[in-house]
Amino acid sequence: TIPVLTIDGPSGSGKGTVGQVLAQRLGWHFLDSGALYRALGVAAEQAGVSFEDRPALVRLATSMDIRFVPRADGAPAVVLLHGAEIGDQLRTETSGRLASLVAAIPEVRQALLQKQHSFRQPPGLVADGRDMGSTVFPDAILKVFLTASPEVRAARRHKQLMEKGFDVNLPRLLDEIRERDARDAGRAVSPLKPAEDACILDTSQLDISGVVERVHGLLRE
Ligand code: C5P
Repeated sequence: TIPVLTIDGPSGSGKGTVGQVLAQRLGWHFLDSGALYRALGVAAEQAGVSFEDRPALVRLATSMDIRFVPRADGAPAVVLLHGAEIGDQLRTETSGRLASLVAAIPEVRQALLQKQHSFRQPPGLVADGRDMGSTVFPDAILKVFLTASPEVRAARRHKQLMEKGFDVNLPRLLDEIRERDARDAGRAVSPLKPAEDACILDTSQLDISGVVERVHGLLRE
């Protein structure tokens, strides 16, 4: 079987960057499952599909052609939605909010399951999200759950977004992150919580390379 390393956690826990760096180091594929939910939320809004219309959302999820083109320097992959680059728009808190709305719908999660499994290709996969270890890849060889305080996570996201040229307000970002965490933790299916066999790592006091070394160490154990 093809090995999978899962890295789950809330927004700003560092899972995206850590996952990407490790995937590159190991020469494994990388799945940013949050980007699937973000792209679906954005695509639904663009197409004028109501978030109440579950059959239409499921059709959109199934037909969505999303591709990740890796970049050599370990920078976030280029995301192509139906062949067109959607780029930085996907990273905003607006698309994060749309993502968490569609992600609460069980039929949508079910429809995206197969898409996520298709990323499992030799020689291995690093998968990042909320339920990679608990639901999507329960047989992963290592499951990591990253956490950090909401304040630290908001500050990280703030820095990331400002660097991308988005003018964001830190207190508002903190509120939005708290609201999204509450929705993700409170939903009926795959609520945000670590898999029973996950290693939980608080990254509040660690930088990216510290977390990368820790996780790589766990993988080699
Ligand atoms: O990780 P990211 O912030 O990009 O995820 C955006 C949203 O997508 C999350 O707030 C969550 O609602 C949803 N999501 C999910 N399951 C995943 C990944 C993301 O429900 N595996």
